Order: sequence, then structure tokens, then C-alpha cells
Amino acid sequence: MLLQIEISPVCNHLVSFTFDLKAAALCLGIMLGRYPCIWCVWDAKSGLDHVEFKSRSSAHHAEMYQKLCEEYNSDSKNHAIDCDGVEDMEALGVWMVDYMQMFNIPELHLLLGVGQKLYNAIVATMSEEELVTHELLLKHNNISRSSYHGGAFEGNAMRKITLMVEQIGFPISNSSSIALKRFSEVVRTCFGQKIQGDYKLAIFQFEEAFKLTGLNCSTKVHIVCRHVIPFITKFLPVGMGLGAVSEQAAESAHSRFIKVWRNYQCSESLENYGENLLNAVKEINFVNFIST
Ligand SMILES: [Zn+2]
Ligand SMILES: [Zn+2]
Repeated sequence: MLLQIEISPVCNHLVSFTFDLKAAALCLGIMLGRYPCIWCVWDAKSGLDHVEFKSRSSAHHAEMYQKLCEEYNSDSKNHAIDCDGVEDMEALGVWMVDYMQMFNIPELHLLLGVGQKLYNAIVATMSEEELVTHELLLKHNNISRSSYHGGAFEGNAMRKITLMVEQIGFPISNSSSIALKRFSEVVRTCFGQKIQGDYKLAIFQFEEAFKLTGLNCSTKVHIVCRHVIPFITKFLPVGMGLGAVSEQAAESAHSRFIKVWRNYQCSESLENYGENLLNAVKEINFVNFIST
């Protein structure tokens, strides 16, 4: 897994990470079967209801940890462990931070997740003839599916789809088509390097349109509707959009690493596998260092 560590004097925070939500949830130890929101304790049942969910922070995490320890200790079969939650973490020098300060909102994963969800919902309502026309229009507009990722769309293709709802044969009055059009306004106004226009209004209108689709609110839809505005206003310099902290850079590092790794690649069972891997990492670090 690759992390993108950004040390930026323009941001209010010094070190922040942008990576996909699953990886972030794993790092935080909150991957409990479903897809949790890494910034608050939202539960999927509440959908888009206006409920105030407690935000996740390292202090909140310490509390959770302490509870787990207490539960563990309450079983007399277990050897008691000593745990003071917050105090322990402070002693270890762990910052008491809000996770929103540490993890940037990954625009690429939101674009792909929300876009694909609405895309699938629209396609499911189309007749066979409509689908044939749709495929031709995709081709005509140079929108192709990725050859890996099981034929899903990649970032650029999905960006085009959100902008071309009318030109790719989608039934216009379909509630999911309308939601996808509203989502394209969100993408246009705040997923780029700079804020362009009224993104708060765009998010509000997307939320209203999404509710009318009757689709389940996914974690990504929740994040678009509840966390994008606070994140941009609190943690990004004025005028900066999510694209400025996009995980795109880390994603493209995957393919750069694979190119370097080809020169070192060997069977995992070989004795020098570890050394080869280390040398590949050294080389990519060196390449990154001289190119910045
Ligand atoms: Zn949340
Ligand atoms: Zn990735």
C-alpha cells in the first residue's frame, strides 16, 4: 500500500494522508465488516437523515480502545491488561486530532463510487435497444471501460459520463439521471484544483435529487453530503478544491512502482525477495526525490 504524505505549509495541518476509505479504515482499526465512515460514527440505517453523529478523533478512538480493554478484563479467564485510554495515548505522544484533520477527502474514490452507483441504477432501467444505443454513444464520445478493474470506468471516463448525461442516451427524466446530473455539478464546482462556483448549493441540490432516487445511501454518498463542506471550509485554504489533495498522485504511484519493480521482480519464495523489494523501494524513492 502506498501512502501519500503531504507536508504543506499552505494547509492548516502539516501532515495529512489521502487514500481510499477502505485503507484508511483499516489503518484506524475500524473496519468492522461494513464500510464505516472514517470521520464520524454514521450508521447506514440513518441514510441522509439529519442526525448529529459524533466525529471520530484519536480521543474517541482511545475511548473505544478502553471499552474493549474493560470488556476483555471483565472476563476472569483473561490476563488483565492495563489500559488508560486517552492517558496512554497522550503518554505515547499520540496527537489528539480530529480524523478530518489527518485524512483528506479522496475525490477520485467519491467520483468513482457515487458515479458508478448512479450509472448502474440508470442502466438497470434501460431497454436492450436503449443499451445498444448507449454503448455506441459511449464509443462515439471516446468513453471506454478500463481493461482491468472488471470493466468499470476510470476517473476520466466517469468525469465525462457525469458531464454527458444528455449525450449518452440516458433517459433524462429518470430520477437517477437527474441525481447524476446534480452530482456532475458537485464534481465541477469542488472536485477540481480550485472551487468553481457555488459548491454548497450543488451539494444541497445533489442531496435532494439523491433522496428521490430511493437508492440506499452509501458511505460515499454520506461523505459527499455531510463531510465535503466542513472539510473544504475548515481544512483547505480559501478557494482550493478537493483535487488539490487528490489521491490521484498515490494511485499513479502504483503504476510507477510496478515499472520499477519489473527490474527487481522475482519469486516470493527466493531468498533475496526481501532485498529486491527493498532495492525497488529505494529506487522509486530516489526517482521521486530527484523529480521534485
Ligand atoms: Zn461521516
Ligand atoms: Zn489504489
